[in-house]
Amino acid sequence: MIRPQFSDTLARVAGDWTDARSADAAIENLVFLLDSADPDEQDALVTLAARIRDHHCGQRMVVRGLVEFSSCCVNTCRYCGLNRNNPKAERFRLTPDDILESARLVHEAGIRTIVLQSGEESRDARELADVINKIKSTYDMAITLSVGERSHADYALWKEAGADRYLLRIESVDADVYRSLHVGRELETRLACLETLRELGYQVGSGVMVGVPGQTTHHLARDIRFLASREFDMIGVGPFIPHPDTPFRDEKAGGVGLTLRMLALLRIVTRNAWLPATTALGSMDRDYRIDALKAGANVLMPNFSPVEVKKKYEIYPGKRCITERTGACALCTEGIARAGGLEIDWSRADSLKMAVRL
Ligand code: SF4
Repeated sequence: MIRPQFSDTLARVAGDWTDARSADAAIENLVFLLDSADPDEQDALVTLAARIRDHHCGQRMVVRGLVEFSSCCVNTCRYCGLNRNNPKAERFRLTPDDILESARLVHEAGIRTIVLQSGEESRDARELADVINKIKSTYDMAITLSVGERSHADYALWKEAGADRYLLRIESVDADVYRSLHVGRELETRLACLETLRELGYQVGSGVMVGVPGQTTHHLARDIRFLASREFDMIGVGPFIPHPDTPFRDEKAGGVGLTLRMLALLRIVTRNAWLPATTALGSMDRDYRIDALKAGANVLMPNFSPVEVKKKYEIYPGKRCITERTGACALCTEGIARAGGLEIDWSRADSLKMAVRL
């Protein structure tokens, strides 16, 4: 049973999420929608999100090949199994040749974007620049980097080498929540990195985690406002999943319903951002990536890391598809798209916001 107040608020947010009345009213609208766990109301929310996705992005799911190339990290994020204080974490660093081989497999699978991801390590920026250069001169594909906070000079070097996009999740824009997740690090630094990346001409992605300790739906509503107003090209949303070897081991996992409502609202307010059906959503009690597609997501990122290292890249436990041979995930990609009611788009699929900015 859908309450009239729910329908009115949803229509208001879909029409103009910023709400002409006031910034507080805009936040209250989002909180109200995030808080509704009624199945009929959630159905109405995700159905509208999927319609908006189809209208602004097409009824398609784009594919990015993910390569996790190092589990080494200098940071101590309290939710993450790769944090440097975890002695049980298995560390690996792929060689440039290993990364190039993974790029070959991504290209061979017909995928035209590779996402190179690692912990925040101290690898010489020139080594990664060389890898980027070699991939770009060998294959016609876009490169997305996701290697954390680095200097302006490093970001510039990688852009110059041919990197197209950069993912840097903010996790929360509330300074206190941010600090409670990231020991000894400040939100301002993250924001400055995001600014630098944009200035350098990257297509920029960010994202948040849902259900972390101390987070409320007010925080999430403010995250939505931040992510929408910065016009990010890509936005990742996944549930918090407690890792047994971290300080958050006894905390409750984020809710699937709340994560899907967050995703749907991000679709409704951002219109044409690329929103992945995240692996975290696929790694809960069951695989919720199809539900994510039905709630407005339109990206899937099959894992192309070598099979012998896949299980070592354990930010959270229970990660899906870590035993399949490299590239095998690409095979079930088609089935997931179909189940989500979408066609597959194998192209490099650049930002849909970029044309508007140019
Ligand atoms: S979340 Fe990223 S930066 Fe933080 S500890 Fe894990 S790998 Fe390192």
